[in-house]
Amino acid sequence: MGECPGRVSMSSHRATVCLTFDFDAISLWIGPYGATSPSMISRGEFAVVGVERILRLLDRSSVAATFFVPGHTADTYPDTVRAIAAAGHEIGHHGYLHENPVALESRERERQVLQRGLEALDRAAAVRPVGYRSPAWDNSPHTIELLLDAGFRYESSLMGKDFEPHWCRVGDVAQPDGPYLFGREVDLVELPVSWLLDDFPHFEYVRLANRISPGLSAASKVEEIWRDEFDFMYREMDGGVFTLTMHPEVIGRGHRMLMLERLVAYFAEHAGVRFATLAQAADEFRAQSRPGT
Ligand SMILES: [Zn+2]
Repeated sequence: MGECPGRVSMSSHRATVCLTFDFDAISLWIGPYGATSPSMISRGEFAVVGVERILRLLDRSSVAATFFVPGHTADTYPDTVRAIAAAGHEIGHHGYLHENPVALESRERERQVLQRGLEALDRAAAVRPVGYRSPAWDNSPHTIELLLDAGFRYESSLMGKDFEPHWCRVGDVAQPDGPYLFGREVDLVELPVSWLLDDFPHFEYVRLANRISPGLSAASKVEEIWRDEFDFMYREMDGGVFTLTMHPEVIGRGHRMLMLERLVAYFAEHAGVRFATLAQAADEFRAQSRPGT
């Protein structure tokens, strides 16, 4: 009694918060968006300013995060990528020029892009990533098998669950005239994502020839959505993993950094909550589960 209606009551469930940042930088603009104007391209340049601000916040908060870095970003900004790694954060794979795997014409082409991204991360910061996030969160029918072949341990692009790590599958069959057939689980952990928990569609205004994404939400609105998603997970699930996806060029604007700072403090004040990289969350799941059939 006396509690505000609609306010969830808190219990002390264990929960993990993973802050993830996709350091797309210029790759997104000259790749999928086809930008040629210096103004459009400069929007990607702002990602470096964002990374500097994010690194300061993470340092002040003693939080380790995961940065997914396209190979093109690593080749363009090797010093920044080295600074991320030197600060103790995880670096994951995110394509070369932010290619949507579904748009690549063949399995072999997708394998080449994967390899090119690996080589760029190695060149920039001598990093061999264990995690992958597909650009545009759009895995192709080949992606999981290619990741297994390349020795990845987790990926983070699927949306079949919200807060529960689970095993990826291969061999699904989509039958328009019958039930969907689920393939077998394989030794690759999925750390699920959601457009709801991604800063880009909420905030980034993009106008292209064939598309307008309005973005430009008030940070107060996004803060409310993200906080309530966390509250629900914390109340309803034991051991949930809350993965936020952010982009330095988006979250790096001043008022959004203040929002992120408030959210980090809010998550941290809950009993049993800890921050982790996705690699740590994947390893923890791996230690207590095995792929089934
Ligand atoms: Zn991206």
